[in-house]
Amino acid sequence: MSVPVTAIRGIGPAVADLLQQQGISSVHDLLAFRPRRYEDRSRFVPLDALKPGVSAVICAVVQGVQTRYSKRSGLAVTTVRLRDAGGEADAPFFGQAYIANSFRDLARSGSSIVAWGSSRLSRAGGVWFDVREWEPWDPEGDPLSVGRLVPIYPALPGVSQKRLRRWMLSALDLCAASMPEALPRATRVAQRLLPVEAAWRNLHFPASAQLAESARVRLAFEELLVLQLRLARLRHARGAAGRVSAGTDTVITEMQQALGFTFTQGQSEATAALVRGMAAGRSLHGLLQGDVGSGKTAVCLAAALAVLRSGSSVALMAPTEVLAVQHYRKAQAAFAPLGIGVGLMAGGRSEAPAGEGPSLLVGTHALIFGDGDLRGVGLVIVDEQHRFGVQQREALRARCGNPHLLVTTATPIPRSLALALYGDLDVVALRELPPGRSPVRTHWRRPSQRDQVYAGVAEVLRRGRQAYVVCPAIDADGFASVTATAVRLQQGALVDWTVGELHGRVPVAERDAVLARFRDGKIDVLVATTLVEVGVDVPNAAVMVIEDADRFGLAQLHQLRGRVGRGAHASYCVLIAEPATEQGASRMEALVGTNDGFEIAEADLLLRGAGELDGVRQSGASGLRFADLAGDGDLLERARRLAQGLMRRDPELSQTEHRLLAEALRGQACGGPA
Ligand code: ADP
Ligand code: MG
Repeated sequence: MSVPVTAIRGIGPAVADLLQQQGISSVHDLLAFRPRRYEDRSRFVPLDALKPGVSAVICAVVQGVQTRYSKRSGLAVTTVRLRDAGGEADAPFFGQAYIANSFRDLARSGSSIVAWGSSRLSRAGGVWFDVREWEPWDPEGDPLSVGRLVPIYPALPGVSQKRLRRWMLSALDLCAASMPEALPRATRVAQRLLPVEAAWRNLHFPASAQLAESARVRLAFEELLVLQLRLARLRHARGAAGRVSAGTDTVITEMQQALGFTFTQGQSEATAALVRGMAAGRSLHGLLQGDVGSGKTAVCLAAALAVLRSGSSVALMAPTEVLAVQHYRKAQAAFAPLGIGVGLMAGGRSEAPAGEGPSLLVGTHALIFGDGDLRGVGLVIVDEQHRFGVQQREALRARCGNPHLLVTTATPIPRSLALALYGDLDVVALRELPPGRSPVRTHWRRPSQRDQVYAGVAEVLRRGRQAYVVCPAIDADGFASVTATAVRLQQGALVDWTVGELHGRVPVAERDAVLARFRDGKIDVLVATTLVEVGVDVPNAAVMVIEDADRFGLAQLHQLRGRVGRGAHASYCVLIAEPATEQGASRMEALVGTNDGFEIAEADLLLRGAGELDGVRQSGASGLRFADLAGDGDLLERARRLAQGLMRRDPELSQTEHRLLAEALRGQACGGPA
């Protein structure tokens, strides 16, 4: 049951419509509209005590207003003169001529404003106060906006902060006491969390900064717990799938022979875990996570072999045609001697598997939309799954009946994200790289050092190795493009070697040929777009140069770097960049600083925030209101452990003390008074 916002005094139908547009229709929605920050207005900083560059909240009388127009740009500059008992300051507002009217009224009535911002000294020795936020101040009228920690909300068009605060107080009075306490008391105490009412009250009008954070943590915990319970249920509800009977040891032995190398311990363990998961009768939803170059393909093929040997077929989907064809080749070389047919279905190309019996079908999205016969498929493998949406993965699964599912990702995901996004999957991680690899050394160079960089590349080519050069564009101006770079290198620094090009405008049919020539050593230097970002595996390539590297994201750069260092040769990666922003520079430094994809992912999460990461956007996990996946890792772990315990003890959540939690799970606890 939900209480509409119109139950609050001062909210009529017109305002309700306005709120509706922001997704706020019930009182609970309104309460969940959380403050962006809090402002300490228990103490204002006197104007003569402002420290330049330090944020402060001031309270001052508006003395006068002046608007000038810049001669050069025509920009309006409105200067508001402020004064308090001890000092004076000028607050400039740029390009907001209309703002002068509000201040003129305030000046006329001798009113004050509360403003948040920071000061700097003017050349004439006066004080400038750069206002980030302000509102008129009424010393008597509004105890919610002064003398305390004051909540500052995200801007809502047409609604002042003051009005919002009043609504919030009414909303709390209406609903806070009857908010459902979804957490059982024992849990709440054990986890040292605030009771629900106190949490909502302190979220909006905290008695202290600590209480504001405790309130957020309490609400975040509940949110994460519900998410984890949902995922745990999904896991619980999985149907049965074909039982795999092949033995792990046999499969690994056969695969090692076929691939010509010995599995690492990690690969063997991962294979065993996956085969075990498929032998249980319930369908496996596995996530094979491992850094670039950790050897996920071999594990996928081994898992495939286990299914094939048990009498079912396997479908393997890759995000690009280049990668699908590479897998197809590898799988064919490995499986043909074992008498297993391998087929291809990618863009323009399709090859039927040879022979009768269960087979491996490799392809791109074409697998989902094509007319291939996917009945009898007992395992679906989605390689580099973060490149696909959940819908695509599920569409492919649906075409195959109810098969086992194995997805891989080389975008290392911080554990907190993996739990939030894939809590319904069994995560199997490859932590080590195959033996004999020497770590890729990474250097950051300026564009002015380009000649030295390519002289170094030539040196490596002379030793028989190959190189990639990645550019952000095919042929745009302004930054390094594939075509211009390829010509420049071929005619200049790398005149003695064969330079090839690979990008989205090379016809699909030719891309594979280009890559094959690179693989066979007929092309020495491949200048490419990020088309080579995922999956491409040419062990003889030992140098990766990335032009205008600051144009790429951190995860992407790490992926690109992962194209080298795949063989025994000493390899290196050169980032050529003159970053325009501090964040760009931090990305370069992060990459130079570590080869560990997990560390990179953590850094990425901190630099960009969870909402920006690939895969998160699609999954909707960034829809979390209170939890912050970058900072709440511990909280998430706690919620996950609790969810698992609950699922063991009371899977249906039918005990009385879990009733409200069950309701929250059904999305109904958000209704206000029950
Ligand atoms: P990714 O995990 O990025 O998909 P790949 O599966 O493409 O990595 O493997 C990277 C390279 O390592 C390939 O050339 C592969 O043949 C090789 N490789 C994988 N496992 C081993 C191993 N156990 N010993 C030696 N080389 C291996
Ligand atoms: Mg791969």
